Amino acid sequence: MQEKHIINQIDKESGEIRIFCITVDKDDYGDVVICDGCNGGEESLGGALLGSYAMCGECCEEYKYYEKADEVFNKTLSFKQNVLDWRQKTYGSSHLASELVSIKEINPKLKE
Ligand SMILES: [Zn+2]
Repeated sequence: MQEKHIINQIDKESGEIRIFCITVDKDDYGDVVICDGCNGGEESLGGALLGSYAMCGECCEEYKYYEKADEVFNKTLSFKQNVLDWRQKTYGSSHLASELVSIKEINPKLKE
């Protein structure tokens, strides 16, 4: 999905009006949950956050991540459910999204 915004800005020094086109590419990965340790683990129980990494229950058990985790997930829920809940709580949406923003200045003189 792509959004375009045109914004005007007055250059403080020259007083000229500058026009920018901002393009936002939005990728929505939906409900995809992948363990940063083993690239799987959706159905394992529990899991934990280590910094910005989400580790599934199996990796946490195997590599003892629970002991050094920043946040330990509910061990009665699946890793997938825990990550979705955490996204909802943290970002207000369970969808994993990335935004790519590009800004291009449009020279008004070229438009004529
Ligand atoms: Zn894992």
